[in-house]
Amino acid sequence: MPVDSDPEVAAFGAAGALAADEQYIRNALDLAREAMKRNEVPIGAVIVRDGVIIAGAANRTVRDQDPTAHAELLAIREASSKLDRWRLDDCTLYVTLEPCAMCAGATVLSRVKRVVFGAWDDKAGMAGSVGDLLRHPRLNHRPEVRGGVLAEECGRIVEDFFAAQRNSR
Ligand SMILES: [Zn+2]
Repeated sequence: MPVDSDPEVAAFGAAGALAADEQYIRNALDLAREAMKRNEVPIGAVIVRDGVIIAGAANRTVRDQDPTAHAELLAIREASSKLDRWRLDDCTLYVTLEPCAMCAGATVLSRVKRVVFGAWDDKAGMAGSVGDLLRHPRLNHRPEVRGGVLAEECGRIVEDFFAAQRNSR
């Protein structure tokens, strides 16, 4: 997949920007691991503005009995609520798994500046796998996208979760 140009690379050098991305993906992974203990699909997301995490969430579809309670959507809502504005054009969304169509759509609507995700999702990912809603040429906002950060670790917890579910049936 293409790696997009990145302003942080210019500011901190390629190694520094990647290290920062990995750290925030690790923060999202922590949220995903906590969600797994509650029997939720282990996906976590954080939103960062000026080097500070302003929102973080994991999937809550089971707890809330809400099919739209995905980590990214919850984090976007929390960030908008905290900043008291719907436009998140100075924020970066970090999520452990490639966003689905709903979350990619919400990301475009929120004008998030940049999206960094962990594992690719062959079945539902809309940042290049199934389609690319985040960078759709007809849409009026296209965030920068970096995928595959700590991909193995992020993918493994989801695989382990579904393997455990199959075994418990
Ligand atoms: Zn989603």
